[in-house]
Amino acid sequence: MLEHEPQSATQLSIIRQVKFCAGHRLFRHESKCAFFHGHNYRVDIEVIGNGVDSVGRVIDFSVIKKRFQGWLEENWDHAFLIFQDDTNALSAIRMVEPTKYFVMPCNPTAENMAKYLLEQVAPHVFKGLDVMAKRVVVWETDEACAVAEKKSETTNALTGELQSAVVVDRR
Ligand SMILES: [Zn+2]
Repeated sequence: MLEHEPQSATQLSIIRQVKFCAGHRLFRHESKCAFFHGHNYRVDIEVIGNGVDSVGRVIDFSVIKKRFQGWLEENWDHAFLIFQDDTNALSAIRMVEPTKYFVMPCNPTAENMAKYLLEQVAPHVFKGLDVMAKRVVVWETDEACAVAEKKSETTNALTGELQSAVVVDRR
């Protein structure tokens, strides 16, 4: 049971960190990223809800672990991420036995991976829950990450009650 607080202007969110290893190459990259290689990826996923439950949680961290980390472990961990247009890499990876790969609709850059997790994976794994992923950060190295974030109009749909109350206050 959610406790709605339309008068509050505070947006609560939680962030869960997930780590996995994967291989990839960047199709049409000008230099070394065109070679098969891998990364120890780190993903930070930020989740918002409509207030908190009776315990005071946006959602229990274990649910994110089970659903989001579970998806990553099953699909991307120890797999090769390959762009669907990269037919040369696809035929190469299919020669290896056993093999694990994931065909992506876009080049597997950190940017595209973050966008894919935010737009495709998060709605799928959080289906039926009163939460949505607001932001996904994919760390390819300790120094470099890409951020995919829902534009505020999208997140406002979930917290519409709260936002309309804020608009009234500004008049
Ligand atoms: Zn790379």
